Amino acid sequence: MQEGKISRRDFMGGVAAATAAFTIAPRYVLAKSSRRPLSEKAQGKNSNWIAETFRNVYWDFNTSPKIPDIAANFDPEFAGAMLKRAHIQAIYFTSRTMYGYCYYDTKVGVKQPYLKRNLLKEVIEMCRRNDIKLISTFQILYDDRIARAHPDWRAVKASGRPYITWTMTPLCVNSPYLTECVLPELTELLEQYDIDGIFLDPIGHGIEEKWCYCPYCQAKFKKRFGEKIPQNRKSPLGLKCTLWRREIFNDFRKKCCDTIHEIKPGLPITINNTFCGTHYPSDPPDYVDFLAKEVKMFTGKHFDISYFGRYMVTLDKPFHLLPNRFQHGWSDWDLKPVATLKYEAAAMIANGTVCCVGDQLYPDGRFEEQFYNSIGEVYGFIKQREQFCLKAKPVPYIAILHSAATMNNNDNDLSLTLAAHKALVESSMHFNIINEDTLLRRLGDYKTLIIPEQTCLSDKVIKAVRSFVKEGGGLVASGSTSLSTETGKQRKDFGLADVFGVKYQQDYPDTYAYFKITDGAVAADIGTLPMHIDGRLLYVKPTSARTLANLVHRAYRKEMPGRFNVGSFAPAGEDSGYPAVTVNQFGKGKAAYISGSIFRSYWKKNRPQTKYLVRNLVDLVTADKLLEVQADASVEVSLFRQDSALVLHLLFYYIAKTLDGPRWAVVENIPVIHDVSVKLKVAGRPQQVVQMPEKRELKWKLEDGILSFRVPQFHIHTCVVVS
Ligand SMILES: [Zn+2]
Repeated sequence: MQEGKISRRDFMGGVAAATAAFTIAPRYVLAKSSRRPLSEKAQGKNSNWIAETFRNVYWDFNTSPKIPDIAANFDPEFAGAMLKRAHIQAIYFTSRTMYGYCYYDTKVGVKQPYLKRNLLKEVIEMCRRNDIKLISTFQILYDDRIARAHPDWRAVKASGRPYITWTMTPLCVNSPYLTECVLPELTELLEQYDIDGIFLDPIGHGIEEKWCYCPYCQAKFKKRFGEKIPQNRKSPLGLKCTLWRREIFNDFRKKCCDTIHEIKPGLPITINNTFCGTHYPSDPPDYVDFLAKEVKMFTGKHFDISYFGRYMVTLDKPFHLLPNRFQHGWSDWDLKPVATLKYEAAAMIANGTVCCVGDQLYPDGRFEEQFYNSIGEVYGFIKQREQFCLKAKPVPYIAILHSAATMNNNDNDLSLTLAAHKALVESSMHFNIINEDTLLRRLGDYKTLIIPEQTCLSDKVIKAVRSFVKEGGGLVASGSTSLSTETGKQRKDFGLADVFGVKYQQDYPDTYAYFKITDGAVAADIGTLPMHIDGRLLYVKPTSARTLANLVHRAYRKEMPGRFNVGSFAPAGEDSGYPAVTVNQFGKGKAAYISGSIFRSYWKKNRPQTKYLVRNLVDLVTADKLLEVQADASVEVSLFRQDSALVLHLLFYYIAKTLDGPRWAVVENIPVIHDVSVKLKVAGRPQQVVQMPEKRELKWKLEDGILSFRVPQFHIHTCVVVS
């Protein structure tokens, strides 16, 4: 189920009228004693398969209950042969739809109205015959069938009107929906069907961030806080209510997963689009076994795979990234070019995960064979590479901090970490994105930390960053970083003021200004150009830091307080007397500080100089360089350790051809990349430096522990294995 995109709307019209005749199943009582003992296989003891199965396809089959002859032409023999031909090892299959109906015979739920077969049973048997794993998709919470049967279970706004999302009706997690519907239906599915994994969807999504004012919620909130649910986040109980919503959703999710694990211990469970850093980045809970995130190419955010990969790979659980075959998202029945599908799959393995791609069956159960021809070619390409990815772990080097405390106070604004990701990936740097839990556990493993305007940081995180720099770590921080506590209360000065070597004075009284580099150490590719920076800027006073760039006012500020002329900005004018960029020696490490929202400005305006400044600062503060890659064209870089070998991934970085602004980006042709020069720090003398799967032995030299080599060419993706 795609976040935000309404795609199944066409099937929706008149569903309510057509299905009014189907009523809710009788109340089902969990009868533990009646459960059959399960075979070891059925208990799904081996959940490692998720991390080791590289070629997955997601079969979406969320069809309206109005569609006649549903799945009438599904041919399991044909499907099995087609999957084998396309090298597919595992599939997802919809067991229970977003409309609340099941594709199997059920005594507890309601079967899809016009389905004349036990489709799930046939799909499972097809998978068994062909040695293919099956993850069952079970859709809950946006549940129109139950909403019609129990209108009082719907999630409601402060006005008392129910929420509607993607034309669907979200239910309230505090209502009896969980115990009277979800758990009995899950229990029946798990007791009756031998599946290899389960995908719960869409639980949460938008409705977790919206507040429900139904009587169940009001009563629970009153019991806990002694007051009514506040009107909005700005009220004194705002942050408490946000955290309480998270807690009740967590409780709902945990009860679902505990029920599943109680019936099938070890069965891998995931919850779509949750724990993947879009909201409250933190350690995923123990009750999920792997993570899943739908990713987009079609909105021009072409680095989604790389962005989420570089975050999720640090969470110590296997994960699936889920793009789909369609150019414009679910249900447009289109097909991305093979080049796009190949690029996406390569981006997944280069960022530490296995491959997955979404498809939709036609309503009568037939397949679009052309997709399976394409994905067969793509997965043939992946098959040659997966042995260099299996059980590999990213080498810690540069980290971007993705702070939950900041997200809690800024309405989950991702643009700051997305901008930092874009700046680094386009500079061919190897890095990961870490949350505060990871930071507190293993910041010391990294060489440099980037904190992009992460305003709200706890004393604990500040202490860890301080000791990291003191011990020799590099730091690049910007704007309001550490200026507020984790509850959003502004401090008198930066929590990291001593590390930055500057003191906060006040906010800059204008919406834009210029940065003028004064130190050649950070001037590469920028020179003397005054850099235009928008958004929040700060006046800071150096205490021990050295100035690298000055903060320059725009010209004619007093004479022309508004626009310079019609619709344009004034050029750089007088020096403000305050620094824009500083560097401070703190203990054995160096901290660079930028006195403006440079990452937000970069995200909005995409000015290349901004990226060059970030890259130059990372170079300046990173004492112990691990990896430097030089290439003419854009090359995305990642470095993994696989047993005693280092595996360097080089990935063609996307070229978009667009017709309508930044949207509808597409990759049709991918050029061959030539001449990539690499310098890599190694522990000893390597036995072999080989480009794979090309099996090309590379010439190398070793000087002072730095291995230098040149990759003459690659197409889309290559691995250099240093063993
Ligand atoms: Zn409620």
